[in-house]
Amino acid sequence: MTLDELKINSKDISLLMLEKLGERMPGGFFVYKAYGDEKLLYANDVVHDIFGCDNADEFKELTGFTFPGMVYGEDLERIEKSITEQVQEHFKKLDYVEYRIRRKDSEIRWVDDYGRLDHTEEFGDVFYVLIRDITELHNLRESLTDTDYLTTLYNRRHFDGELLKMITNIVNKGGRLCMIMIDIDKFKNFNDLYGHLVGDRCLTQVAAVMRKAITNKNFNLYRYGGEEFAVLLPDTALKEAALVAEEIRLAVRGIGIPHEEGPQGIVTISAGIAEITAEEARSLANPPSELIRLSDASLYEAKKSGRDTCRMNKMARCCSL
Ligand code: GH3
Ligand code: MG
Ligand code: MG
Repeated sequence: MTLDELKINSKDISLLMLEKLGERMPGGFFVYKAYGDEKLLYANDVVHDIFGCDNADEFKELTGFTFPGMVYGEDLERIEKSITEQVQEHFKKLDYVEYRIRRKDSEIRWVDDYGRLDHTEEFGDVFYVLIRDITELHNLRESLTDTDYLTTLYNRRHFDGELLKMITNIVNKGGRLCMIMIDIDKFKNFNDLYGHLVGDRCLTQVAAVMRKAITNKNFNLYRYGGEEFAVLLPDTALKEAALVAEEIRLAVRGIGIPHEEGPQGIVTISAGIAEITAEEARSLANPPSELIRLSDASLYEAKKSGRDTCRMNKMARCCSL
């Protein structure tokens, strides 16, 4: 049911009518006074359920029976601004927003809210709202946009977000962070020899075997771009990170995909490892890009020394390169 199908006659709306309407609605439906204190006039049982409440009293206690009381604090400013902009733009004064709520059991869930602003004799301006819990849909959408289509690994977007989080963490709490940058050897030649479709299949196989090699280690593998991959290793010393890289290299060798022009007659990878400490991160203007630059410099050394190998660099050494 859409808001237009509700066919509410705004002139003579009453609380009794709202109740009758709400009981007939298959989904969540609530009404609140627009502007001012945004006090709720009505919310049906489905809304109570979305908030994990057994009845109207529990819902009233949880939310204070106001619209701002329903919205997770951090999302309120963003959506109030969006609602105002949307109703000003639309002829029918419609708006659509997505925000988080906190249920009675403290679980955070995502909802979408499709509202219509109307004027009533009894209550002045009110918003009629249809609301749904879209948490699963939201998570699916997030995971799709954070995942690379070909390899199903996390993509560069996710990598950038995670790297920033990890760096922020060591800046605030101390510790260290390592990164492994991985690049398939002579992959352009592989495509030239066997074609791009076989190249795609090879990328998928290499990604799968590398992921498997680190599954029990609690680190994620990311597709950094093209035939380049990355691993982030929080709280790990450089030497340990180098051992992980070596395991990955051997795992790729292990599947033995033929590559006539590869350094060993099979598909191999090279890896560059770098480390950043909390102290270094605090003193640098852009620590994430510095860690990437260092890993890249190590990778370059690995390529220079004949490929199918791993090289590591501490910051002090790398800076003098
Ligand atoms: P090196 O050992 O120095 O890394 O040599 P390389 O040939 O691997 O390096 P280069 O960066 O020159 O080439 C990378 C190639 O990877 C070029 C590009 O065609 C290929 N590539 C990148 N992404 C994909 C992909 O999604 N599918 C396929 N089939 N090839 C890709
Ligand atoms: Mg490359
Ligand atoms: Mg390459």
